[in-house]
Amino acid sequence: MKNNSVVECQKTCSHCHNKFTARMMKPFPTSVRDFKLSSGKCRECREKQQKVFQKHRNSAALHWTFDGVKEHFEGNPPYVGQELLIHDTSWHTNTYAIVTVKVPSHTRQKRIIVESYTNGYSGQSFYRSGKNCFSPKGQVKLLPYNEKIGSLIKKSPRNELRLSSQEVYDIIG
Ligand SMILES: [Zn+2]
Repeated sequence: MKNNSVVECQKTCSHCHNKFTARMMKPFPTSVRDFKLSSGKCRECREKQQKVFQKHRNSAALHWTFDGVKEHFEGNPPYVGQELLIHDTSWHTNTYAIVTVKVPSHTRQKRIIVESYTNGYSGQSFYRSGKNCFSPKGQVKLLPYNEKIGSLIKKSPRNELRLSSQEVYDIIG
């Protein structure tokens, strides 16, 4: 019996030019004809590419995680007037801006209130992890200051720097 929930096709990897078996599973995202005509990459090349993307994404986050940021601010409490960074991943790019601490430890949650950046959805209050209090699952995060990115922001118009993840990787590694 033919398994018609998977379509297989021999292709040549568009990157390394090795032959590989491409598979398309149901629900098919495209027609079988288009699938057979489209170019593709072998699994090894796709995995390599995925690793590169991940490396660039880690750089774009300036190598911070929410847990890491929380630990940092607990060990190094923010103070009034301190410069911190905003990392906004809206619109498929990385926007960095410098904000200053207005209230370093607000309420028992020790929220950090800064001025002044918003993408229209985010507020000025952040948890110690760097998550935005108004939009914790949103794309605007608070990060500790970074000398390289900070000095580039200061040279940018409107105190905002937009970079692809690859560009950030090229700057900070
Ligand atoms: Zn390949």
